[in-house]
Amino acid sequence: MLLQKSGVRCSECGKEAVVFQRHTGRALCRECFINDVVSRVRNEVNRFSMFGAKDNVLVGVSGGKDSYVLIDVLFKIHDPGRMGFVLIEEGIPDYGRLEQAGWVKELAKDSGVDLYVISFKEYVGYSLKELVDLSRRRGLKVSPCTYCGITRRRIMNQLARELGFRRVLTAHTLDDEAQTALMNILRGDLLRLVQGHPAGPLLSPLFVRRVKPLRKVYEVEVATYAYLKGFVFQERECPYIQEMPSLRAQLRKYLYRLEMEAPGSLLRFLERVDELVHGLIPKYSSLPELPRCVRCGEPTAYGRKYCKLCELLMELGINKVPGLREEFTLKHTQ
Ligand code: SF4
Ligand code: ZN
Ligand code: ZN
Repeated sequence: MLLQKSGVRCSECGKEAVVFQRHTGRALCRECFINDVVSRVRNEVNRFSMFGAKDNVLVGVSGGKDSYVLIDVLFKIHDPGRMGFVLIEEGIPDYGRLEQAGWVKELAKDSGVDLYVISFKEYVGYSLKELVDLSRRRGLKVSPCTYCGITRRRIMNQLARELGFRRVLTAHTLDDEAQTALMNILRGDLLRLVQGHPAGPLLSPLFVRRVKPLRKVYEVEVATYAYLKGFVFQERECPYIQEMPSLRAQLRKYLYRLEMEAPGSLLRFLERVDELVHGLIPKYSSLPELPRCVRCGEPTAYGRKYCKLCELLMELGINKVPGLREEFTLKHTQ
């Protein structure tokens, strides 16, 4: 995406261009590229009413470039006084979130944003590594990403609800969103497709709406933005990435190739998904409230007694009911 040769002019302002934006075919200078990303995020936020000027939002941060860019853009379009950050420590060997997220602490301190740090160990009683080891000992075929994703989403939702945040914001990019949408379509799971959409219905009063402001920004644009802003990151790869569920891993590779061959494909795909979901919303909005897990009280799918997290934990022989206790919600640093 970064231009290798000099002397190319910005398509917008005529200054020296530094970036070639493949999906629009434009060469852009640093400023026009950053403005382009910010205005696309702002448009997406407004288009789907992701949050309003008065909404308190909880931002999930990982310490990597995606969360850096999300926060940098959010500071331009929303009031930092109406934000909180949450950093979740999964407990993955050689992948300490807190070590990677020194800048988050600094930024939270400088901008007066509350930072909540919560670990899997506190929430479910076990680190992700311990869950994965238990699972392997029992011969289960559950991917680490399944334990990880479900627990992370649960923590963010519960924390936001208990602290009165109106939205949970995550740094998922266009690449992530396209994978998820295609996966749901291939599985025929339109309910999940609609529920995961920023305009989809919330089927339980216990859910805090989760939105992804970067959902129309390519991963490569996020990396370029971070680089142009001078964000120094040494993003280590999660050691469990090779064990990502196979459908997602395959789609990831396939969509990457597709985008290389036909720039703009992922964006066009997600735009069509938005139209499809728009047509489906009336049908799914009239569904009854989701049932609640008899073990932990959180929402679960129709026809189920336990939520997915409790099912996973029970399968591992873990009796502790997941949940935030008061000391966790109070455990934050400024
Ligand atoms: Fe979690 Fe999987 Fe991502 Fe690792 S690769 S952080 S286990 S979701
Ligand atoms: Zn320019
Ligand atoms: Zn449960």
